[in-house]
Amino acid sequence: MSRRRPIYEGKAKILYEGPEPGTIVQYFKDDATAFNAQKKGTIEGKGVLNNRISEHIMNLLGGMGVPTHFIRRLNMREQLVKRVEIMPVEVIVRNVAAGSLSKRLGIEEGTPLPRTVIEFCYKSDELGDPLVGEDLVTAMNWMTPRELDEVIAMTIRVNDILSGVFFGIGIRLVDFKLEFGRFFPNEDEMQILLADEISPDNCRLWDAKTGDKMDKDRFRRDLGGVAEAYQEIARRLGIRIDPQSDN
Ligand code: C5P
Repeated sequence: MSRRRPIYEGKAKILYEGPEPGTIVQYFKDDATAFNAQKKGTIEGKGVLNNRISEHIMNLLGGMGVPTHFIRRLNMREQLVKRVEIMPVEVIVRNVAAGSLSKRLGIEEGTPLPRTVIEFCYKSDELGDPLVGEDLVTAMNWMTPRELDEVIAMTIRVNDILSGVFFGIGIRLVDFKLEFGRFFPNEDEMQILLADEISPDNCRLWDAKTGDKMDKDRFRRDLGGVAEAYQEIARRLGIRIDPQSDN
């Protein structure tokens, strides 16, 4: 791995140049951060679990017609993805009030929202990913109006599919964050792809019966049992991880 050229190191992942042009290797670290990296820690085995969980979810979405950057998993901690130009906007989907929405509006966590809400945040560590409106997204040219429409349509589809998948395994999909990128298969073509990862690092997942949190809030709020919660998500999704194997 050391021969690979790192392109970017994020909070939870390192991106390396891929083996073929137009590809990238995503390496999943065990590092965890919260509150714009003011809180830092390590969750043993998180990278392995998120690599597998994200692979599973991206494959599922791809199979249902959502275009994603995912190509294939390479090993325990790495996956090959298409190289995209990431749009500088995080797309947040909320089915139930929690986290920053509950804080901002004084709505008790766990209150179902009358309908699904999509929010946008400008990706900027210095500014703490501020909430922005759709108008600003297009005015600042972070997405064209057509791209925004496509991103919203894809986001609704992802939410419909994932809400159903998690409901089927006794989990409430409270909210989650998506990132999208532009992929250029050739000079005069562009496709919008779902990018980054989908894992308990960027979703709120609550046990449907007990209401137990099974996501990164366990780390953010010092609830303990973080790795165990991620393992349980993988187990319920039917993912078998053999600790002896490197695959
Ligand atoms: O913090 P907040 O309540 O706005 O988060 C909403 C959802 O988006 C949560 O599932 C959280 O994990 C995810 N999120 C994220 N990365 C961010 C901000 C939020 O994955 N930078």
